[in-house]
Amino acid sequence: MTDISMHLNTDEIELWAQGLLPAARAMHLADCSLCRVEAERERKVILQLVQLPKFAPSAGFADRVMAQVKVHAPSGDWTA
Ligand SMILES: [Zn+2]
Repeated sequence: MTDISMHLNTDEIELWAQGLLPAARAMHLADCSLCRVEAERERKVILQLVQLPKFAPSAGFADRVMAQVKVHAPSGDWTA
């Protein structure tokens, strides 16, 4: 049983930024302002990293990450 009241750890925030976070944990994120702040910060870091050539292993990887980030964060709407 997943305890949705538990805060996300850094691994889970990373998964969220990649669009891979399980729905049960995403529900906590939608409810928890602390985790939202952490997740937003992590997402911004990732967005910056993928734009740096030395951190991009391949154009395909950056494109996939960017596509997922866009799909999961449409204009910062957390209620969706
Ligand atoms: Zn939390």
